[in-house]
Amino acid sequence: MKKIFITGALGQIGSELTSALRRIYGGDNVVATDIRKNDSEAANNGPFEILDVMDGNKMVELAKKHNADTIIHLAALLSATAEAKPLFAWNLNMGGLMNALETARELDCQFFTPSSIGAFGPSTPKDNTPQDTIQRPTTMYGVNKVAGELLADYYYHKFGVDTRGLRFPGLISYVTPPGGGTTDYAVEIYYEAIKNGSYTSYIGQGTYMDMMYMPDALNAIVNLMEADASKLKHRNSFNVTAMSFAPEEIAAEIKKHISGFEMNYQVDPIRQGIADSWPNSIDASAATEEWGFKADYDLAKMTKDMLDKLSVKLK
Ligand code: NAD
Repeated sequence: MKKIFITGALGQIGSELTSALRRIYGGDNVVATDIRKNDSEAANNGPFEILDVMDGNKMVELAKKHNADTIIHLAALLSATAEAKPLFAWNLNMGGLMNALETARELDCQFFTPSSIGAFGPSTPKDNTPQDTIQRPTTMYGVNKVAGELLADYYYHKFGVDTRGLRFPGLISYVTPPGGGTTDYAVEIYYEAIKNGSYTSYIGQGTYMDMMYMPDALNAIVNLMEADASKLKHRNSFNVTAMSFAPEEIAAEIKKHISGFEMNYQVDPIRQGIADSWPNSIDASAATEEWGFKADYDLAKMTKDMLDKLSVKLK
């Protein structure tokens, strides 16, 4: 990765990934693009271009202009939003991905795009979900993610594009709010704990999902992209996770820091249905074996850091 071109760079992952990559590879060598501009560091502290990923010609033109050798494709509609607008989600998630893969093929770029635990479905084994297993998701987001994993594999086998990807769990961060996923409750809860001392969860008690703190997700992207290609057997779909918890467990952890914290439940059937179709916990051993994946943050360490950072941010 020498000249990195990022789509959807102002979202939850992109805004932090752009800054992290600029620190590692040099400010001028990381081009952030998004359909909109804002006052974030990612949009203003280095090269930035407006790009709608549905415009394939403009993507090639901009990637060429900046001599990109790496494409990181993040623009997408997330699980809950995609379920509300399935046709739009199909068009954006698959159309944007095709344009990004085509750009990588034409300009001979290394390529990264995230998959998700959403690529699994109700018939997938729920506990310690294996790397290679049944993938019959019942959400539009999941259908897009499985198709995306297969397309990225196809571009590697057919055209030799160096495609790589991770199946991310719910990502928790304090810089940019999440963009409409099923696991967003695990971010909102920290904001509400600090602001109001209480949170009403739209996910019910006893619902386990995998999660990861953003610094671990950023390290995982860099380490996978820098990994020795000859060691990668599962290029486009590595299971990665740092923890699995249910809403009452994150609430209990927050209570250790904010003793009066109160948790209530008002289950949203749509997002609960999506959560119920996903694994309780996934097995990340292939990522560990093939490129040394390791997460540093567990629930306790993440909770302390989130509350420390958000207390300053929300002052
Ligand atoms: P996000 O919703 O926070 O950000 C998406 C960004 O894409 C936004 O900045 C938005 O403005 C931009 N965008 C939307 N439409 C666009 C278009 N037509 N052209 C260009 N940009 C457009 O998403 P995120 O959480 O940063 O997720 C990025 C990727 O990671 C997605 O593929 C998502 O499925 C995947 N992922 C995220 C999580 C998570 O917990 N955040 C978990 C698993 C996988």
